[in-house]
Amino acid sequence: MRSDILIIGAGASGLMAAYTLVKAGKKVAVLEARDRTGGRIHTIEGRGFSGPVELGAEFVHGNLPVTLGLLKEAGIGYSDVGFEMWQHHNGKLEQSIAFVDGWDAFLEKLNGLAEDMPILDFIEQNFGGEKYANMRRQIVDYVSGYDTADVKDVGAFALRNEWNHEDEDAQHRINGGYCRVIDLLAGTVQDAGNAIYLNSVVKEIIWERGSVKAITADGTAFEGGEAIVALPLGVLHNKEGEGAVKFCPPINEQEKAFSGIGFGSVIKVLLEFDTIFWEKGGVDADLSSMGFLFSDEAIPTYWTQAHQRSSLLTGWLGGPPAHLQKDTSAETVLDMALVSLANIFKTGPEELRSRLVAWHVANWTAEPFSLGSYAYDKVESAKARILLSQPVDNTILFAGEYLYEGPAMGTVEAALTSGRDVAHKLLEII
Ligand SMILES: Cc1cc2nc3c(=O)[nH]c(=O)nc-3n(C[C@H](O)[C@H](O)[C@H](O)COP(=O)(O)OP(=O)(O)OC[C@H]3O[C@@H](n4cnc5c(N)ncnc54)[C@H](O)[C@@H]3O)c2cc1C
Repeated sequence: MRSDILIIGAGASGLMAAYTLVKAGKKVAVLEARDRTGGRIHTIEGRGFSGPVELGAEFVHGNLPVTLGLLKEAGIGYSDVGFEMWQHHNGKLEQSIAFVDGWDAFLEKLNGLAEDMPILDFIEQNFGGEKYANMRRQIVDYVSGYDTADVKDVGAFALRNEWNHEDEDAQHRINGGYCRVIDLLAGTVQDAGNAIYLNSVVKEIIWERGSVKAITADGTAFEGGEAIVALPLGVLHNKEGEGAVKFCPPINEQEKAFSGIGFGSVIKVLLEFDTIFWEKGGVDADLSSMGFLFSDEAIPTYWTQAHQRSSLLTGWLGGPPAHLQKDTSAETVLDMALVSLANIFKTGPEELRSRLVAWHVANWTAEPFSLGSYAYDKVESAKARILLSQPVDNTILFAGEYLYEGPAMGTVEAALTSGRDVAHKLLEII
């Protein structure tokens, strides 16, 4: 089967590349391993839940131009996210103003750092000693939870870029779910007569300048002049995995560069209860506007659907602790979440279990076509990204959230921007 351009991977980056190329009049074929489009965007409906729930991406983290531009184009609305933050530490539940004690002083010191280094080294060099023990713990939890990264290798410069651009007041959820963005992109591609082949696991890319053949697991060959490889970094890291792609001839330099960028781990736990039990249950606090809740429990982070009234609680385990649980069964992760919530709300896990209406554990680190959460920068990542952003012999190009330069690292915005920019680059060279 032949088209102008092959796109491997139908996540946000691959579909945005396809959408941009199709709008420029090109013919594309999109090859996708799973039986659905969207990749790490996966909105589900039904399965006992009372509305759409997000197994992957959920928030638009700020007034991000590419994402909001697409929403505007398609007339898709979005809603603000409730941001009242609470913390549960040492048995006490309190509303919290900041994630980290002494944050301003910490950020000021970080902004003065002249040479990049892993954030753990920076913390130990500048905030060692008993006095800062609490602050250190909070930063490690934050990096692990939010960036899903390992403090031992995530770069200080990347984090300071992110932290200096944070806009907590502008967090949104897409009405009807993130899948609507995917449907817009995929629909435009298909309506223009281009195919998206699902259940097509690409195993090998045989290429020479101006010609590419992608062979899928069932032996089908798809041909094109060029290919955009829009696979998750986790899959590109793991040469033995089910989604691993062999390049023939090999592209050794690029394969080495993949390991220069970090890829985190995450497990997301969706729990819908029969009532908003946390509003008045067990604790002496008004939690009716709670947005986020941070704790020391095994599944430490939770959020509600505020400002909507909903009895859905989402649990989140990120970073190295999520990697440690990657082979843990969904049922055990559910137990961990129920015990965590029972400790926080001073009730019993069995009581909470009896109130569960629907639940789902999304273990993205165990998923063979993701193998993790999203990218984070190590000290050497900027160099790796420059190399991976260059077309290989004007024939193979890479797209994905991990190739984005800017403050919204690891996000859907990053993936969309990368897909759009790679398509423009390709249009310049063909
Ligand atoms: C739990 C979770 C929560 C998140 N929350 C947010 C959030 O709130 N806000 C936000 O902006 N971002 C969030 N993100 C990040 C965001 O989802 C990703 O950055 C973005 O969706 C990545 O898009 P992508 O196109 O780069 O990769 P992917 O979406 O991973 O797309 C790659 C595609 O390649 C396919 N593939 C893999 N191997 C093969 C193969 N061999 N052959 C063919 N196809 C293959 C995959 O199936 C997949 O469809 C979250 C991610 C996770 C996992």
